[in-house]
Amino acid sequence: MEFWPRFRLAVVISIVYTILAVLYSFVGLLNPQPPISIIQYATFTEIGGHLLFGFIVGIFSFDLIIALKAAAFAVLVDAGKILSEFGIPIQASVNHSITFMILSALILGYIFRSKIKFEKLAAITVAAFLSHIAYDIIDSGPTAIPLLSPFSFTGFILPPWAVIPIEILGILIVVWAFKENALSFIRKIKI
Ligand SMILES: [Zn+2]
Repeated sequence: MEFWPRFRLAVVISIVYTILAVLYSFVGLLNPQPPISIIQYATFTEIGGHLLFGFIVGIFSFDLIIALKAAAFAVLVDAGKILSEFGIPIQASVNHSITFMILSALILGYIFRSKIKFEKLAAITVAAFLSHIAYDIIDSGPTAIPLLSPFSFTGFILPPWAVIPIEILGILIVVWAFKENALSFIRKIKI
């Protein structure tokens, strides 16, 4: 596919991902919290850092569109927090959950399976999510992440060193899903 049709598809997929992030966040109603204003957290370092960490995992597909998609997903994980901004009493980061990671990957992969290979889109969704968690550890410091929602709303505080293995895991998932791109890149370098 040409660049712009692929880019347009990436935008559509990102919009659907945003909708999933918001829909999943209603799970937070099971553990109501006083709503907070999240706009103040939408700083340059917050958004820029998530874009960068997402882009880094995505670029290992050796495909610019995929890297941009990963960067977009990595920011859009936080879209679920918008419910808190609108005064809905959810735990703001409730979709920072392994359940959301798996569900969003399966649903996106299934919806767009005729446009992009299921495992490729699922892999990029998981990898972008992991990059989001990795940067949250850096940016938010020791914050509790409800990794097991909706089964448990207890937050896990991940140690600073976890940033590297989580980001590397994201990279490895992308390398695996797009291995033919990595191989042809290596072949080109050899020539
Ligand atoms: Zn976050």
